[in-house]
Formats: sequence, C-alpha cells, structure tokens
Amino acid sequence: MGATVMTPEERITALFDGLSRIEQIALLGRLEIAGGQLYRALATEEKNAKAREALLKAAEDEERNGNLLGLMSTAKGACEKCHTSLSVCTDGYSCSFQCTFCDRCAAELQLTCPNCGGVLETRRRLQDLKSST
Ligand SMILES: [Zn+2]
Ligand SMILES: [Zn+2]
Repeated sequence: MGATVMTPEERITALFDGLSRIEQIALLGRLEIAGGQLYRALATEEKNAKAREALLKAAEDEERNGNLLGLMSTAKGACEKCHTSLSVCTDGYSCSFQCTFCDRCAAELQLTCPNCGGVLETRRRLQDLKSST
C-alpha cells in the first residue's frame, strides 16, 4: 500500500466511517465545540479588534452548533409529559431533538412532538447503540 496522504477533509470524513447516525451527530457536535476553542485561541492572538470580534462571534456559532448537536444526540431517561422514567435505549418515543415521551403519552400525542412538530419514533431501534463507548 502506498502511503497516500489524506487531506484534512478526508481525515475528518474517515472519523465518521462506520458510525451510526446518532454517533455521527455526537461526534460532529464535539468537533464543533473543539472548533470553537480553536477560534477562541486565534482570537486571543488577533491584534485587529474587529477581526478579534469576528473570530469570537464565530466561536459562539461553533459552540451553538455543537450544543445543538449534543442535544440531538443525547437520549433522555424520562417522559417529558408525565415524567415516567424510561430506559434510554429501549423505551418510549423521541423526535430528532430527543424530545422524549413514554408509549402512552406518545400515543396520546398521535406520534407528533408537541415542541417541534416532528414525528415521534420508537427508540427500540437505538438498542444497538448502547455498546458504543
Ligand atoms: Zn408519559
Ligand atoms: Zn421535538
């Protein structure tokens, strides 16, 4: 095998290989947060005040993206409506933002998330994610 040099873009793409969708969302979130820290480091060394301000703004954007992706990849352990505790990997229903409801509340809501209007899907398919470290 020849030593092919990977571009930075290819290296990042390679990190996502073989991950489930929710793991990809979690990883992207971590990269965004790390990106925010890089922006902040650049801002610290920037002498031009306007440029520094722009870099700090960009850091906040990265952190906001990272937090959103973190939210979207963090399963919750209780129903939002009746607060019944749920097994994170097998019970209840959730939307893409991880708004989570027990079977009974999800049925009452006709599988539509009251917060975002998205479809509530069963979490049973998430079961195989538990093994990831
Ligand atoms: Zn409930
Ligand atoms: Zn929702």
